[in-house]
Amino acid sequence: MSIVVQKYGGSSVADASRMKQVADRVMRTRREGHDVVVVVSAMGDTTDDLIALAKQVSPNPDRRELDMLLTAGERIAMALLSMAIRELGGDSISFTGSQSGIITNDRHVDARIIEVRPFRVQDELSRGKIVVVAGYHGVSYRREITTLGRGGSDTTAVAMAAALGADYCEICSDVDGVYTADPRVVPAARRIGTLSYEETQELAESGARVLNAQAVEFAKERGIAIYARATSSPLPGADPSADGTVVRRHPPRLPGTVVGVASERDVFVVHADGTRSGLVSDSNQPDGGAAGELLAFLDQHHVAGKQLHVTADRLTLVVSRENLHEEARVREELAARFGGTARISDTLGALSVVGTGINASFENVRRGSAALTAQGIAVEGIATSSFRITWMIDRAGLDDSVRLLHRTFIEQQMQPVP
Ligand code: ADP
Ligand code: ASP
Ligand code: MG
Repeated sequence: MSIVVQKYGGSSVADASRMKQVADRVMRTRREGHDVVVVVSAMGDTTDDLIALAKQVSPNPDRRELDMLLTAGERIAMALLSMAIRELGGDSISFTGSQSGIITNDRHVDARIIEVRPFRVQDELSRGKIVVVAGYHGVSYRREITTLGRGGSDTTAVAMAAALGADYCEICSDVDGVYTADPRVVPAARRIGTLSYEETQELAESGARVLNAQAVEFAKERGIAIYARATSSPLPGADPSADGTVVRRHPPRLPGTVVGVASERDVFVVHADGTRSGLVSDSNQPDGGAAGELLAFLDQHHVAGKQLHVTADRLTLVVSRENLHEEARVREELAARFGGTARISDTLGALSVVGTGINASFENVRRGSAALTAQGIAVEGIATSSFRITWMIDRAGLDDSVRLLHRTFIEQQMQPVP
């Protein structure tokens, strides 16, 4: 029998009635003759609420204890969903991440899956059961419970699909696929039928939270097809790109085509000036210099940087707040130790356009910058990769700028930039 892994996000299981609808969709999948593994997220805003509660108790909550707390959300959801499936006559059993064999490194709050040993899941499938797995967490070799970073249930699902040899992994959400921009921000955004892993990963890393970036990376490594779909949409038919998004290996598009626009608001930028950085080859400081020390400090505090730019005497680093829960402490210590050279700017957001071969020429950079400047939006910095252009701009203008770049690159016909 073919194995199907389905993941349902927090909004899809936000209350008892939605939980029952998910149970019904699981049962329909089962009736089609598949073995079904269901990965479930915490209900609604549970994870946000638990983090807020932790911060009331401790402004810089201990990472291990935070993980112990956060997994409670997914455990509640797994048990309730299994009950709902049983209520519909299904034979189901729920498992935590560790019971499902999800082994991670020991980086609390932002752990990486190292391997999956899904023996118990396979045993229960062979007994004809539907297996419900709590998403977002695993267990380290030291038997510590870890979480996988925000949005990490997607990663649980893809990792499980790879370990079980599933045909595909369905990620079910409140939106029926990956759009050219967040449809809540850009009403004109369109669903994209097919995407390559690289494009999807860049969109996710740029802030399009419909799919988790680490999950897409995992899918790319293991060759798992992802079907992003709405929980309310039908089960995938012969062509799942007709009413959802299919992410898999795809032949490259016409180079230079922009497939999507994304933004990230929850970032701050660390600048260090006047350092002989020690990280670039013309430095005289083989031991790392001030910039090297700064990066070592950030690593000690598990601060994950997104874009690092270092020259002989200047360092710029964009930091995402997504999995940073001790920000107050990090900022205090940063000021105490590096106050003379380092400063934080906390007014900027990142605005990105994504597409294969997008920087084959500078046309797209020029086009985007021209559109932003024409609207009086100051560009504080630009970074590029082969799939992405990112403009750092004032956070307050981010949504308007997403709409502007969506008009410029997606709604309007491409015209040569003068
Ligand atoms: P879930 O709780 O199911 O994991 P998320 O809230 O993590 O769902 O992700 C779904 C949300 O992602 C959508 O409601 C949408 O507002 C947002 N989103 C951001 N960018 C995009 C995009 N490019 N395409 C689709 N949805 C997007
Ligand atoms: N509940 C976790 C979060 O809110 C994991 C997930 O939803 O994927 O980030
Ligand atoms: Mg999500």
